[in-house]
Amino acid sequence: MADAPADAIWLRIENFGSGETGDKTVAYVQAAREFHALGIPVIADHTGGLSGLGLLAFGAVGGLAHGVTMLEGFKADAWRRPKSEGGQDGGPVTRVYIPRLDLHLKKAEARAFLKSSTRTMARFGCRDTHCCPGGIDGTLDNPTRHFVHQRSSQIAEMSRIPQSIRPSRYLEDNVRPVSGDVSAAFGLGAISAELRSKFEKKLKAMERFQQAISHFSQIDEMNSMAEVPPRRSERKQSS
Ligand SMILES: [Zn+2]
Repeated sequence: MADAPADAIWLRIENFGSGETGDKTVAYVQAAREFHALGIPVIADHTGGLSGLGLLAFGAVGGLAHGVTMLEGFKADAWRRPKSEGGQDGGPVTRVYIPRLDLHLKKAEARAFLKSSTRTMARFGCRDTHCCPGGIDGTLDNPTRHFVHQRSSQIAEMSRIPQSIRPSRYLEDNVRPVSGDVSAAFGLGAISAELRSKFEKKLKAMERFQQAISHFSQIDEMNSMAEVPPRRSERKQSS
């Protein structure tokens, strides 16, 4: 691919997405690094969440691309099936992103969860006045604005950390807190059985994720870094 006329490589990996396992995230990091020798930016397409942030933390990719509260994973089976007319509810539904749980919930589910107690509201509700000036009602009224702002601030925060310490900060500031918050959410009394089983699944997944990422961060030498794609403003200047 060295002489391919391209200014960036976009990776769209089947069966990889947000909420991916630690082992698959590590495998992605190792595979994406093979492209660094080409000297052009590598971007992870259809990826987000904690696993996507991990790709950035380990310098495997220089950028992430995904839809708004959707398309954070990729499965090619959709291409093999003929398009259905409209779908059950007339298209994809915007979900509510709960950053502290690394989960998206359906709107009704999110409302029931966030409003289940004042403690839940305080711990899991968005307190960022940039996206949710009205607190939880603001989040539920405009889940898109909330998601875009929260996701871009996670990435901005990551990019301010020197590369050499990004993996350890990612573990401390992103992975461990999510494990703790999911565990707390699972222990809540006033939630539906459906939500509890969702949290239980996430809790088990987080234990394995944390273990795999923590092991990898200890053995990884990080000897290559992805180039960061130019920002929109930089692209405009050069064209
Ligand atoms: Zn918000």
